[in-house]
Amino acid sequence: MCGVFGLVAHEPVNQLLYDGLQMLQHRGQDAAGIVTAEGNRFHMHKGKGMVREVFRTRNMRDLIGNAGIAHVRYPTAGNAKSSAEAQPFYVSSPFGIVLAHNGNLTNTAELYDTVYREYLRHVNTQSDSEVLLNVFAHELRHTVSRSSTPFHLSIDHIFDAVAQVHKRVRGAYAVVALIAGYGMLAFRDPNGIRPLTLGKAEQNGQTAYAVASENVVFNSLSFDLVRDIAPGEAVFITFDGQLHSRHCAETARLMPCLFEYVYFARPDAVIDGVSVYQARANMGIALADTVKHRINPDEIDVVMPIPDTSRPVAMELAHHLGKPYREGLIKNRYIGRTFIMPGQATRKKSVRQKLNPIPSEFQNKNVLLVDDSIVRGTTSREIVEMVRASGANKIFFASAAPEVRYPNVYGIDMPTRAELIANGRSADEIAREISADACVFQNLDDLERVVRDLNPAIEGFDNSCFSGCYLTGDIDDRYLLALANSR
Ligand code: AMP
Repeated sequence: MCGVFGLVAHEPVNQLLYDGLQMLQHRGQDAAGIVTAEGNRFHMHKGKGMVREVFRTRNMRDLIGNAGIAHVRYPTAGNAKSSAEAQPFYVSSPFGIVLAHNGNLTNTAELYDTVYREYLRHVNTQSDSEVLLNVFAHELRHTVSRSSTPFHLSIDHIFDAVAQVHKRVRGAYAVVALIAGYGMLAFRDPNGIRPLTLGKAEQNGQTAYAVASENVVFNSLSFDLVRDIAPGEAVFITFDGQLHSRHCAETARLMPCLFEYVYFARPDAVIDGVSVYQARANMGIALADTVKHRINPDEIDVVMPIPDTSRPVAMELAHHLGKPYREGLIKNRYIGRTFIMPGQATRKKSVRQKLNPIPSEFQNKNVLLVDDSIVRGTTSREIVEMVRASGANKIFFASAAPEVRYPNVYGIDMPTRAELIANGRSADEIAREISADACVFQNLDDLERVVRDLNPAIEGFDNSCFSGCYLTGDIDDRYLLALANSR
């Protein structure tokens, strides 16, 4: 999972790109990069770390130009990546292209081979995004060289090349790219697994366009959300500000990733027409019914979120159970996400650093704790222990997401099956594992229903980490085994 952002404006974009990346920081804290276009030249700066660590004033000064793209990279546990794998990536031929990508390709190994052996192109990192860039570059070159005007790049060449990319590449990809001297390209995979939105603003009587993983960027930069980029669609904005778009996939369907709504996206984002905040609130309403079936509501004294993501869920859950909503776990907002720490020992310590209990909120109370999801169960076990030590009587644990039982191959970092606490365990067994008195998980049907209620045009979801059904049809046990072995 990563964040991408791109701008074609009528004024320098370096500060805007930096500010936009800050708004996407939650999508990746591992590395950040910006490329700007000044006429035919690209200026690039990228490196490991948070946005505020990667960019110094001197770097910002060098990022000249009125168009640019930017990226924040998601940390992948146990698979530390070098700064060479920070994005965007660059190729010099054809024309000069830079590209940044959110998502994960599922046929990278096969593509890598084709790129190397057939296209005679070199990929210098382990990144599927560099492979994707080389596939696109090859297709663009091929399309242009076959045309009647082989030295001239047209909008149709670009869209034809994207259409070829859709035929060759499988997996999830939301992409922004710049073609030197021409403009900015954005496209989304035919399932629309990862989000991508289009925004615009009036600048000095002209229209500036922006593309971003989440529309939260637009509000902060005084851009307006135009719409989501459709699955399989490509948008090209010339450097003089003309917007073109085309549906480039033979078949496309809107199947966004459910986990974006559960955990990943900011609550103030609207993804594929669905307010993430409202979706989470609705998850709380649906969860209330499931809780009523599993726990005697008379036994619950208080409902409490595990901050921050689950707050809207817990609020509605409390309301629909008719129970008080209280906050007894206080988050230290200066500690990084615990998921990114390698090894369970470090992780255990960081949960304690991150959350601190208010004992008076727990003493002699039966508490229903609410989290967005339980993955390994390390966090929840630690929290239950902490809440118990703070004097709670009974501790119930509710998850806004169903049991996570399968790895995610489309860009969300999930551990291997063996590490998932819900793998091969019932809710009661999970409760025992985390020392809770009961555990309640959202039903997958309920989760899908409450999100789709907010936009009936959504045809379905990538729900693979809950269901084991992988939309791209190319994931089997062998693939998952190889993935597990590579970790
Ligand atoms: P754990 O069960 O200890 O693996 O941690 C679960 C918690 O980590 C959830 O409550 C989320 O807040 C957070 N989380 C879930 N999935 C991810 C992910 N893919 N990347 C980062 N954090 C995650």
